[in-house]
Amino acid sequence: MREQPPVPPLFPATFLNEAGLNRQHVFDLAQLPPAVRQTLGDGEGYRQLILIGHGGRRLWECIKASGIGGEHPIDQYTLQTVTRWLAAFLPGRPYRILYPGEQVIGLQQLGRLAGWHRPSPFMVGIDETWGSWFAYRAVVLVDSDFQPFPPLAGRDPCLSCQSRACTAACPAGALAGEFSLAACVAYRLGTNAACQFTCLARTACPVGSEHRYDDAQLHHSYALSLRMIRQFY
Ligand code: SF4
Ligand code: SF4
Repeated sequence: MREQPPVPPLFPATFLNEAGLNRQHVFDLAQLPPAVRQTLGDGEGYRQLILIGHGGRRLWECIKASGIGGEHPIDQYTLQTVTRWLAAFLPGRPYRILYPGEQVIGLQQLGRLAGWHRPSPFMVGIDETWGSWFAYRAVVLVDSDFQPFPPLAGRDPCLSCQSRACTAACPAGALAGEFSLAACVAYRLGTNAACQFTCLARTACPVGSEHRYDDAQLHHSYALSLRMIRQFY
């Protein structure tokens, strides 16, 4: 009788889900488009790329409970959690955490391949389940052999949106045609701008609104982006 090929192990998601890192996608490195593979650097010794994200509020709740503070609590918590997960479920397997880190990684490009990313008018990814309330948290090269995930199916909610509530809510008119980064930045840099620490367009979108980040998380994320804007403009 011919020997059956071994069944790939199931992806152990529970630990990550409970820790708030509740979106994952496994790619076989060999199946990634060469242009994407190139952006990952040396893939020698690794078979898979694992994309980890979060959706909704749980991650922030877990971070608060962990007591991690400082300037980049999300990255710190993510690194700590992913490292623990790797030690527990892939002990001894070589890995390299590409993100968070110094390397520039095309997160939205990976999100598109995973079926997570559809661009909203305000340029943040959106999907039917989470709305725009999800983000990429870690990218890991690892010598694992999980069953690779198929891309997530789903509609682009913006295509059938009648209200265009996001466009109407933007006080800078930045979404009136093609997204105008210049208009958004100029508005946010103004004194007393209403969206220094939020994006009114994003919060106006009804899709996935039950997953909207709480005010503290919004303030944290948009304070970081405002600081970057101030550095560059
Ligand atoms: S309000 Fe409509 S067009 Fe705007 S992001 Fe939401 S679904 Fe898309
Ligand atoms: S941050 Fe403010 S100005 Fe920029 S797109 Fe969002 S609502 Fe418009």
